[in-house]
Amino acid sequence: MTFTDDTFVFEQIKNEQLRQQNGIELIASENFVSPSVLKAQGSILTNKYAEGYPGRRYYGGCEFVDKIEQIAIDRAKELFNAEYANVQPHSGSSANLAVYRAFLEPGDKVLGMDLSQGGHLTHGSPVNFSGQSYEMYSYGVDPTTEFIDYDKLEEIATEVQPKMLIAGASAYSREIDFERIGDIAKKVGAIYFVDMAHIAGLVAVGEHPDPIPYADVVTTTTHKTLRGPRGGMILAKEEHAKKLNKAIFPGIQGGPLEHVIAAKAVALHEALQPAFKDYIKQVKLNAKAMSRIFDLSPLRIISGGTDNHLFLIDVTPLGITGKWAQERLDAVGITVNKNSIPFDKESFVQTSGIRIGTAAITTRGLKESDVELVADFILDALSAEEDEMSEIKDKVYELMKDRPLFK
Ligand code: PLP
Repeated sequence: MTFTDDTFVFEQIKNEQLRQQNGIELIASENFVSPSVLKAQGSILTNKYAEGYPGRRYYGGCEFVDKIEQIAIDRAKELFNAEYANVQPHSGSSANLAVYRAFLEPGDKVLGMDLSQGGHLTHGSPVNFSGQSYEMYSYGVDPTTEFIDYDKLEEIATEVQPKMLIAGASAYSREIDFERIGDIAKKVGAIYFVDMAHIAGLVAVGEHPDPIPYADVVTTTTHKTLRGPRGGMILAKEEHAKKLNKAIFPGIQGGPLEHVIAAKAVALHEALQPAFKDYIKQVKLNAKAMSRIFDLSPLRIISGGTDNHLFLIDVTPLGITGKWAQERLDAVGITVNKNSIPFDKESFVQTSGIRIGTAAITTRGLKESDVELVADFILDALSAEEDEMSEIKDKVYELMKDRPLFK
């Protein structure tokens, strides 16, 4: 890659490229896109305004972006077997905002998973639009098993009678029973909204139960396990198409980002290939292999394991916080995020846990024996003396140096 113009900014991009190349990326919501996705997103489509939808635009010159957006829609519908798709949301949060605005009035009751137990900000946090504009209630996990407590969920839903029930999570390592939650939504007459942002890649290839048959509406980000550009997407039954389209444009967005939509189209094409299923299977194998190593250590895996691409570790048995662990691992080139664990005694700033995901390192080509080494590096770094840190950093570099970001 050559950078010619803005020296400062391009210098930082180069630095970031080296950081990504040399480090071990374990943030569960990140991934490495293919050169084709990157090329589409970095294309001249960034110059184009195209308010509206394919064939119904408010600007001229949309004949080519219409084709691109339409094929992105068609591929999304094919991949997820959905009746309707909107590929315009700028992010997962915008997709979620549009869903709230399409189905609810401000002040309506909504039931979602508690942020501190694995849910997302947009599922009702008081510092988010969701918690500020709607009457939010939450459910969570069983304190003993740390699996979603479906009986309690049903009890809360029956008592609250929410207008909308949200399933989906940002930090939950177990399969979500979308059918069961759908039955509860039906029983209480709630709109059933599934946010599958984290697990969309798994759902796409049948490696996680599919929410589409049960939900009224499903949102996802396109940049996590789906391995596309940063952005969002909405899938739904055809009957909701009109109000969802209106909620995105003109409801909360203006011109769609056609360069990002082109990159979504390319990523969806990649996800439709047989190799993507192999990739997702490896992501899950890697998560299981890594979590087993931690399980044998003094650290505690939340819920005792993982069924998907991520797991949460309680780091307090080592007498440390999630924040300390995150910073320590940063120092050896391993990137994770601190994360609250269910019923955490620490604040959101300190936290008792870290979240680990294997989507990105699997894209870099790591297999079970490699990720077991990564788990060892983490355990070593969390208990190393200062003068032992550079040796661990060297090992991280050695493991990643021959695995290019772009194949
Ligand atoms: N929904 C879930 C479950 C998420 O985990 C996330 C992001 O982490 C989002 C929505 C929001 O996505 P974005 O960061 O693109 O707004």
